[in-house]
Amino acid sequence: MSTETHHFQAEVKQVLDIVIHSLYTDRDIFLRELISNASDALEKVNLKQAVEKDLYQAEKELQITLAFDEEAKTLTISDTGIGMTREELKTNLGTIAHSGTKALLDTLKEKGESAGDMIGQFGVGFYSAFMVADKVEIRTHSWDPNAESLKWESDGSGSYSITELPEEADRGTSITLHLKEEYHEYANDFKLKNIVERYSNYVGHPIMVGDERINTVEAIWMKSKSAVTEEEYEKFYQFTAKAYDKPRYTMHFQADAPIALNTLLFVPQDNPEKLGFGQVDAGVALHCRKVLIDAKPESLLPEWLRFLKGVIDSADLPLNISRESLQDSSVIQKLGKVVTKRFVKFLAKQAKDDDAQYLEFYKAFSRYLKEGSCHDFENKETLTDLLRFQSTMTEDGNLTSLQDYIDRSKEEQKEIYYLISTSIDAAKGSLYLEPFKARGLEVILMTDAVDEYVMGNLMEFKDYKFISIDKADIELDEHVLDGEALPEAELTPLLDWLNNSKNEQVQEVKSGTRLVDSPIVALAPDDQMGFQARAMMEAMGQPIEEPKAVIEINPRHDLIKALAECQKADGEKAQRIFAQLTQNALLAAGLVKNPAEVANGMNQLMAEFMK
Ligand code: ADP
Ligand code: MG
Repeated sequence: MSTETHHFQAEVKQVLDIVIHSLYTDRDIFLRELISNASDALEKVNLKQAVEKDLYQAEKELQITLAFDEEAKTLTISDTGIGMTREELKTNLGTIAHSGTKALLDTLKEKGESAGDMIGQFGVGFYSAFMVADKVEIRTHSWDPNAESLKWESDGSGSYSITELPEEADRGTSITLHLKEEYHEYANDFKLKNIVERYSNYVGHPIMVGDERINTVEAIWMKSKSAVTEEEYEKFYQFTAKAYDKPRYTMHFQADAPIALNTLLFVPQDNPEKLGFGQVDAGVALHCRKVLIDAKPESLLPEWLRFLKGVIDSADLPLNISRESLQDSSVIQKLGKVVTKRFVKFLAKQAKDDDAQYLEFYKAFSRYLKEGSCHDFENKETLTDLLRFQSTMTEDGNLTSLQDYIDRSKEEQKEIYYLISTSIDAAKGSLYLEPFKARGLEVILMTDAVDEYVMGNLMEFKDYKFISIDKADIELDEHVLDGEALPEAELTPLLDWLNNSKNEQVQEVKSGTRLVDSPIVALAPDDQMGFQARAMMEAMGQPIEEPKAVIEINPRHDLIKALAECQKADGEKAQRIFAQLTQNALLAAGLVKNPAEVANGMNQLMAEFMK
């Protein structure tokens, strides 16, 4: 038999090196990973059975078998699953396709041994076999009757070989670990049962040791809440979510109307999309009376709930429903609506009952809630109420709800003021805050790149309009202003003159009552997005039109009064001063491409006037 030898892809070598030499994690997890792969392979062949007539060894029972040889010190994990062809062996076990590799390597570097437990999440679980084995042998035959019977072999050091077997192999995959001396203990009945019970109890297919099935599958979502322990929830969550942490929230409920339902939902600790993965798939499985219909039904729950894990079981589903017809089924739509509403209500209750815990959740999962509040019309208001923000009145690290903002606001206030910035420090230092601070008006400070989109979508909350504070069309009351304003008779000609001598970036010069201590400010015209939001979009590489600005002057400010005087005496000088004032305002608004030019203009101006 000819043997071909291949080198592992560089990323695989890196992972192997870490797994073998520097991962000091609970070694038992290798078995969980291999069983989880076997279980996936059984799931896949199960699906094939439905569509392929010609299936290799179609009569084989779907199961996983653990066998050990105490003499030879080997442990073998076999499944009757989908198997692998020669090409699949090379791609699946010799390369890592996922972008997860980098995320894994980063996480391992950062978190060290505590990350070892997460290895399966990064799509490299198979390699954990080399934690306990110095040689791994795989025999496999794909579901495809025309495929070869193959042996894959490696000591994990850099290369692997593939040989065609002289005899026909059974369908599926059989992985034999030659245990390292210090791990001979795994060739033991009791040890194996113990690990399976701990990690793989809920695997949906039988796990056999000899004639004995050692895993128990229980549909705990069908039981009543009081009959399930915290630990059972946790174990089931870990199985169904392929997770290794504890669920952050667990929601378990039964209902008969408007539709028969047994639902068990989990919110994980971490947001997987934050770990550097792309968008995750739906994670709540659909069952009908305990029978799995679809492990990842796309159309059941709205997209923003893709972070949820768990099970929805409905006795009202037609059992013969096919995956294809799922999408159009009105029962599915009803199910999705009922569960979504219940979950949103559940979250609202959590927010009320334990604010601190909810904030932790919010910090990890806010993006989904924002997505939901924009796209889920039925739950829009409740979801918007679940959003949390920093504001000019929150303490560091604390967040406020919009309802609390409204409760604190002045009676006559009908707006929710907000400011979008690249960072909280930039927001707090923004000159746009001055008029609001002076009037005791709270401003929501936003720093998330999606916030502009969210505000544009929501428009309002409970009849309170969202208003970006750098917009020109804000009326603020005058009672905080002191000092005489420039009289109308002087102001009007000044404004006329200023509007005639403005530069092309300025749409209009007007006088206003917003400013308290500053002479001048650049504001965003009503039909344009806020400057800060605009800067963020630009930083993200979005093409955006050159912005125009409305210049508002403060007619009570000495500098403006002096400008009016100067204009009467020396128009040219006034023009230069106003041009510089405009530049300063545009600079503060973040609209100047070359700030050094503004500083230069200022220097020249000073040099001239001191002559
Ligand atoms: P993941 O399971 O997250 O994809 P693994 O490193 O555990 O990552 O496995 C890599 C791939 O190897 C799997 O996606 C699968 O294609 C293949 N594989 C592993 N074990 C088996 C098996 N028992 N049967 C069939 N394919 C397998
Ligand atoms: Mg795996």
